[in-house]
Formats: sequence, structure tokens, C-alpha cells
Amino acid sequence: MALNDKGIHILAQTAMKRRVQKSPLMPHENDQPTRCALCEREVVQTTRHHLIPRSKGGREVVDLCVPCHKTLHSFFSNRTLLDELHTVEALRQEPEIARYLSWIRKQPDRVIRVAQRNDKR
Ligand SMILES: [Zn+2]
Ligand SMILES: [Zn+2]
Repeated sequence: MALNDKGIHILAQTAMKRRVQKSPLMPHENDQPTRCALCEREVVQTTRHHLIPRSKGGREVVDLCVPCHKTLHSFFSNRTLLDELHTVEALRQEPEIARYLSWIRKQPDRVIRVAQRNDKR
């Protein structure tokens, strides 16, 4: 019985680990607060966003806070991000992002839920 319990326990742990590693938006903890490239808030956790996907030869990577990164991928498809929004400047000028930014800049560094959209561009 004891062996069986242990086996189940180990299985559950492995499954959890795998799920965590799969997420492309997995944030990494910084030793010091880092400025988000988009909203410019200082946050403890940032994620890497490739402005130009590596598959297209792009190397430019920016550190984004979690809500900014989730918002980008919720508002836009990878194609739109690649074709139209592949610089921080272009992102800031996009009306929906601009509206989001004026809101997020007033928010403290805390967990913010970003809803998935059905009308992704
Ligand atoms: Zn941000
Ligand atoms: Zn991204």
C-alpha cells in the first residue's frame, strides 16, 4: 500500500512540472525589479517576447510584464504581431494597446487577470 501511494505522488508531481514548463508565457523572477518594455512599470516578474519570431530570423527580444505579454497575444495573432506590430513603437501606437497602457500604468505590480478575446485580429 505504501509503495502504491508513493507511486501516485511521484506521478502527480511530474505532471505538474510538465505543465509549468510548457507555458510560453512562463515568467522568470528577477533579482531586482525590471522595467517592462511596454508599460514601463517596474515589476518583479518579466517574460521574454520576441518582436520578430525566431523562425523569421528575428533576434529582438523585449522583457515584458506578465499582463502586457498576455494582452499582446490575446489581442493579436502572431501574424499581426509579425506584420504590423514588430516594434515597441508600433505596439504603443496601436489604439487598443494605447488604451490598455493608459490603464495598466495606473496599476500596481500585482497579478492581473487577462481575459482571452474571441475577436483576435
Ligand atoms: Zn508591462
Ligand atoms: Zn510573446
